[in-house]
Amino acid sequence: MLPKRSADWRPILWCAAMPVVVLAQYIRPELLPYLCPLSFYFAMAAGTIAHNHNHVPTFESKRMNAIFANWVSVFYGYPTFAWVPTHNLNHHKFVNKPGDATITWRHSNSNNIVIAVTYFFISAFYQAGPINEYKAKAKERNPKLYATIMTQIRTWLGVNALLLAFAVGFNYWKHGNAGALHGLYLFVMVSALPSLFGTWSMMWFNYMQHVHTDPWSKYNHSRNITGYVFNFLVFNNGLHTVHHANAGTHWSDARAEHVKIESLVDPRLNERSFWWWVIRAYVLSIFIPPFRTKQVGRAPFDTPDAGVVDAAEVKTDSVEALDAGANAQMV
Ligand SMILES: [Zn+2]
Repeated sequence: MLPKRSADWRPILWCAAMPVVVLAQYIRPELLPYLCPLSFYFAMAAGTIAHNHNHVPTFESKRMNAIFANWVSVFYGYPTFAWVPTHNLNHHKFVNKPGDATITWRHSNSNNIVIAVTYFFISAFYQAGPINEYKAKAKERNPKLYATIMTQIRTWLGVNALLLAFAVGFNYWKHGNAGALHGLYLFVMVSALPSLFGTWSMMWFNYMQHVHTDPWSKYNHSRNITGYVFNFLVFNNGLHTVHHANAGTHWSDARAEHVKIESLVDPRLNERSFWWWVIRAYVLSIFIPPFRTKQVGRAPFDTPDAGVVDAAEVKTDSVEALDAGANAQMV
């Protein structure tokens, strides 16, 4: 029942607070303006918790890990098993190089607000293939894993259906037809939009942590956000170089690992302030071109010795890695 590391009590506390914030808004809609921003933050935080849990399961007990993954899926906004084929087995192997289903340079290597905002839709489209293949292979070869995946999907859809039914039914009972419509509005604001933001924000973090970095370099393949408040809020997911160096390191050890290699990373890829980077890269850069990010070192499509690669010719092998990569929460 207990987490393996005492640091994991904090994500568990966050997860315990998530349903309180959601239900408070359904039962007392007048709290929506105050609690809605927190729902959006919790959806993003659930994404970072899902990421950490997929790499280093929180509990010793496999049953507890599966329950925790189901719980997080509901508040993150998508079944968390989907991280395994596209992130654990694929992104961590190719690190934005050809073959990575989540490459930041699919149609352009520019970094501007249009590409940054729409990256989610393009990346989600290309991730659907590996996710579906992973599910199909699990069905064929690993019934236990498949059952875990299906439980996660059913939990995610089932809880959302219940919340929608409750929001519409409860408000219809109180206020009639107008109340039912208000219930629908509540569901969109409290559950649907935060869910979309949870998944959007995780993909965007992937984008900002790799765009214009050098995937062929030992230390410059990722962009780090080093600020302490930011990393407190996202469970050290800002420290990305060390995460790629050893994805099995517990998130609470990432700061100590980062300190060891910080001076080896190109200073342009160690960013203290998340918001200052966002404002510089997407707002000020419109008027002040030097604020645009530039490719640091080699681009992902410039292989060190074989010239330019056509990414379309390189296929992901995430599905082949199914058996090797089945995560502890899944078996
Ligand atoms: Zn990772």
